Amino acid sequence: MQEIRFQCSPEEAKNDDFLRKKIKSLLKLDQSVDLYFEWHKRSIDARKKKVKINCVFQVSIKKPITEDKHIEFKPVNSANTVHIIGMGPAGMFAALQAIKSGYKPIIYERGKNVRERRRDLAMLNKEGIVNPESNYCFGEGGAGTYSDGKLYTRSKKRGDVKEILKLLVQFGAHKDILVDAHPHIGTNKLPQIISSINEKVISCGGEIHFNSKLTDFDVQRGKITEITINEGKKIRVENLILATGHSARDIYELLHSKNIQLSSKPFALGVRIEHTQDFIDQAQYGRPNDEFLPPASYKLSTQIDDKGVYSFCMCPGGIIAPCATSEKEVVTNGWSPSKRNNPYSNSGIVVSISPQDISKEDSPFICLNFQKEIEKRAWELAGKDQKVPAQCLLDFIENKKSNHFPRTSYQPGITSVKMDEIFPEFICERLRKGFIEFDKKIPGFITNDAVIHAPESRTSSPILIPRDKEYMHHIDVTNLYPCAEGAG
Ligand SMILES: Cc1cc2nc3c(=O)[nH]c(=O)nc-3n(C[C@H](O)[C@H](O)[C@H](O)COP(=O)(O)OP(=O)(O)OC[C@H]3O[C@@H](n4cnc5c(N)ncnc54)[C@H](O)[C@@H]3O)c2cc1C
Repeated sequence: MQEIRFQCSPEEAKNDDFLRKKIKSLLKLDQSVDLYFEWHKRSIDARKKKVKINCVFQVSIKKPITEDKHIEFKPVNSANTVHIIGMGPAGMFAALQAIKSGYKPIIYERGKNVRERRRDLAMLNKEGIVNPESNYCFGEGGAGTYSDGKLYTRSKKRGDVKEILKLLVQFGAHKDILVDAHPHIGTNKLPQIISSINEKVISCGGEIHFNSKLTDFDVQRGKITEITINEGKKIRVENLILATGHSARDIYELLHSKNIQLSSKPFALGVRIEHTQDFIDQAQYGRPNDEFLPPASYKLSTQIDDKGVYSFCMCPGGIIAPCATSEKEVVTNGWSPSKRNNPYSNSGIVVSISPQDISKEDSPFICLNFQKEIEKRAWELAGKDQKVPAQCLLDFIENKKSNHFPRTSYQPGITSVKMDEIFPEFICERLRKGFIEFDKKIPGFITNDAVIHAPESRTSSPILIPRDKEYMHHIDVTNLYPCAEGAG
């Protein structure tokens, strides 16, 4: 087997006959030779006027390319147990890893299963009612279930990403995610994948308990000995994986009340902007609606006053979603279906914030309290339901209240509010300067046809749960394993 790489047009990249002939001619093979080829990597090069596809293929002559084997999970019914709190992506993959390592995972999840959760999301979108135990962040699959399902990261210090992508394919994701430079699953496909992971955990002998919230625990001599579920049921534990995400504010409060060390950490906060997808396609590809290209995306970043201002979780063909986890707050985020076929394109545009930007006080809750205040103020100003404050982008730059809005995808509705009423001046100033820089990169980005919705506030955790670098347990509690986003 060998690898071959070349560039071609988007149309050619979709044409197997063209690709076969091209590979044969590049390898100087006779056109009659039996050739087997598979995509290995695929990316879009839109830097020049003529958009190209960078292709990397694995090629085999005469012998078909054999598929990678499925990863096996063996029964763990009577094995030692590992208790896991939270069934978001971190909890689910911790459970799969436990099974692979010969442990029986027992998961406690405060929310409902995927099917029941859907009804609460409908209430949230249509009636503006937030169920604090079942929403876009809480329930089977956590914030991952109704996330956009983009599977790439700017971070260079991740583990074996390819292995995770292979597992997702094993549980039902499209094989393209193994190939695309910017893999994407889509919100419509994720619930089924999560249900398949659930079935695998159960069929191997693991346990999953929904509507089961961790409400207390006992610590003795630097170890957690017992956990309490729903303020009643007590369970003895050997080890505890805490995979509760960064929206579980009550967990940070619980840890703090037990004198378990936490610290505040920098995070990012800002707005979610929405343009039409046609505008973004035109800007990136030079034309809208190309039948051979996916809806275009962008990635923008700049430094303003030594602080980062950048795009976050950009969703081509997407929808802005109400992601509050409590009453009396509003939070935005974005998702898109696998086809990314909505007429809108949204992205978080956020400003890096450090605890020192907010206060000189030395408390782990500085950034979290600030995040809470912004979400509450936005809720009050927009009408005390799930409508969010909104402003047209040019009006924001010129500090004017907006009188007219184009249609936006945010289903619960918007209220005209100046962003300066929600955010402190240092955030508005950095955002304004950031947008002016972005308009130089994508001319026309600043327009009153683009609407900013506020706040985009749950980008990353505002609290750090400090871990031992080698063993990954809490630095003081040696059988507590804070994991993933909630660990900061
Ligand atoms: C709309 C939206 C779109 C997104 N799009 C993307 C994307 O495209 N790409 C990407 O990489 N990320 C995206 N994200 C972020 C991504 O979903 C999160 O980074 C990821 O889900 C974090 O995983 P986690 O398991 O650490 O935490 P979470 O997913 O937050 O899961 C934590 C789980 O713990 C449970 N829990 C909390 N407290 C308790 C308790 N006391 N007892 C029991 N259970 C508890 C919660 O109910 C939840 O199910 C998106 C998020 C949203 C909301």
